[in-house]
Amino acid sequence: MIKLTDLKAQYALIQKEIDEALRTVLGRADFIKGEDVGAFEKEFAAYCGVKGCVGVGNGTDAVYLALRALGVGPGDEVITVTHTFIATSEAISLTGAKPVFVDVLEDTLLMDPAALERAVTPRTKAVVPVHLYGQMCDMDAVLSVARAKKLKVVEDAAQAHGARWKGRRAGSFGDAACFSFFPGKNLGAYGDAGGVVSDDEDLLKRVRMLANHGRLSKYAHEREGVNSRLDTMQAAVLRVKLRHLDAGNGARRRWADAYRTLLAGAPFRLPVVRAEAEPVWHQFVVRVPSRDKFQEGMTKREIETGVHYPLPLHLQPAYASFGLKAGAFPRAEKAAGEILSLPMYPELDDQKVSRVAEALTSLAKEILS
Ligand SMILES: *Cc1c(COP(=O)(O)O)cnc(C)c1O
Repeated sequence: MIKLTDLKAQYALIQKEIDEALRTVLGRADFIKGEDVGAFEKEFAAYCGVKGCVGVGNGTDAVYLALRALGVGPGDEVITVTHTFIATSEAISLTGAKPVFVDVLEDTLLMDPAALERAVTPRTKAVVPVHLYGQMCDMDAVLSVARAKKLKVVEDAAQAHGARWKGRRAGSFGDAACFSFFPGKNLGAYGDAGGVVSDDEDLLKRVRMLANHGRLSKYAHEREGVNSRLDTMQAAVLRVKLRHLDAGNGARRRWADAYRTLLAGAPFRLPVVRAEAEPVWHQFVVRVPSRDKFQEGMTKREIETGVHYPLPLHLQPAYASFGLKAGAFPRAEKAAGEILSLPMYPELDDQKVSRVAEALTSLAKEILS
């Protein structure tokens, strides 16, 4: 069986380092706001090329807290894509603002900057571009719309740890950027975890305050916040894994290149990458007609695949009250029926990648002839 991702294989390679890091925390018993939290925040900020980072409970909270710290709230609109995980829009709704969906580009499946521009109203306060599958959005275009329309920019970089646009890392473009360290992400903890990074230290202070019960000191509460802190055990894991992130991303790139070579003549679409972008291949997503048949065939051949995501957010029951019907965002809707995520993780090997490519090629002959 070839899995979509394999966290056990990763642990086997770094077990000593992880176990030692966790034992150190157990010995110190500094479980909340411990030494590793501050150290990880510094190391991750440096990695992203920004001034600071605040560790929080998960990636959803990271987006929520960044927006709240930027002053987004009831009565505001925040624009994001319909082709993303629901966490992005949930975080917007949590602030009291309304998520406004836009379509993605036909080829990269990332935010369409022209659609962003058209969606801006006098109520629009911010935009949340999503660096889906590990490839960054066209940040030149997104930032130019944001500047012209005076919008705050919060990058959803939950799938893009280490990705670059024109050589600069994800997280260093927006007013703030948000990361998830969910176990399956390129940089993953051993439980829920997230972070907000920014060059704006006042903004980071507000995020830290909101994430810790609105506290300025132990029992002085500036306002109501939430309890959403990165705990020390997770920070200790993340410090170890951050040291291996570039190597892991490099391995993902190698497997992405291998898929591309092996599938070069295939009668379906491979991922499209912009010249300015350096993706980190959180997912390797092909587009096949009759996707469900392909997925079934892969399962029969003992290869796990994924669909990220099968139904665009504007068609989810959760957003029925928005009144957006099928046809509202045709590019995202069409993609949702075709996308198939192939096994992708650093510990893959040539044999597994070949088996995946062969299975897809033979299925294409069966299904598409
Ligand atoms: C994983 C993910 C999130 C949310 O992260 P959690 O840590 O699971 O809350 C947000 N946005 C995107 C695009 C994601 O993939």
